[in-house]
Amino acid sequence: MSYEGILNQVKSNRNKVKRLKKHNKPKDREFGKAKRKCRRCGRRGRGIIRKYDLYYCRQCFREIANKLGFKKLS
Ligand SMILES: [Zn+2]
Repeated sequence: MSYEGILNQVKSNRNKVKRLKKHNKPKDREFGKAKRKCRRCGRRGRGIIRKYDLYYCRQCFREIANKLGFKKLS
């Protein structure tokens, strides 16, 4: 599970949030996969589509590809 996901789960407990932020926060990076984020759901890491400056994860892309004008072939 991602850092954001765990943060959502423990956000009712302030001490747990504090501890999570101290020890489990991903580093703020200049480049690399930890820097890139899906702009719809915030998913990090693998499966981010950067082609055509999309920056959607593959899951979101699949849902909204039709709206963006992509057509499924075959
Ligand atoms: Zn997404």
